[in-house]
Amino acid sequence: MKPFSENIIFFDTEFSSLNPYKGEILSMGLVKFGGEELYLELLQDCEIDPWVQKHVVPLLTEPKVTREEAVKKVFAFVGPGRPYMLAYVNQFDALYWYKLIGGVRDNAFHWIPIDFASILFAAGKDPQSFDWRRKESIIPGLGIDYAKYREHHALDDARFLREVYLKMLKK
Ligand SMILES: [Mg+2]
Repeated sequence: MKPFSENIIFFDTEFSSLNPYKGEILSMGLVKFGGEELYLELLQDCEIDPWVQKHVVPLLTEPKVTREEAVKKVFAFVGPGRPYMLAYVNQFDALYWYKLIGGVRDNAFHWIPIDFASILFAAGKDPQSFDWRRKESIIPGLGIDYAKYREHHALDDARFLREVYLKMLKK
């Protein structure tokens, strides 16, 4: 695999709902190509879907920051280089990030978000093969110890995505 650019931030969010009218970011994990990390949990007063309440909320154990603080911290971490936001099934991550910043203008990231599921598709792989539970999964073949990552923890999900991506670069 020979990607266009290494100016990438691996990005994952946990959010309150799959309904885009209602969903808001509860936590976000950002990992730079070189490994530098940012993790934030947000103070939100939105309604939280039952599935999220059960699987995500128990992992939210850090002090919470306001939406405004979160945006500031992300901009400071990302810096001026407009990296590409790379996420797995990125539509919700990107959309809820836009909700936080109020659109795509004045974005910390390049305005085109990159979807890892589409990268898999273009590489001739099932876009669901990122899931280590599936029999067609690419993860065991890459030699990744997925057990060390807390699933649905935004930082661990972003770290996992980075490890998978870097391993795929070597293929
Ligand atoms: Mg996640």
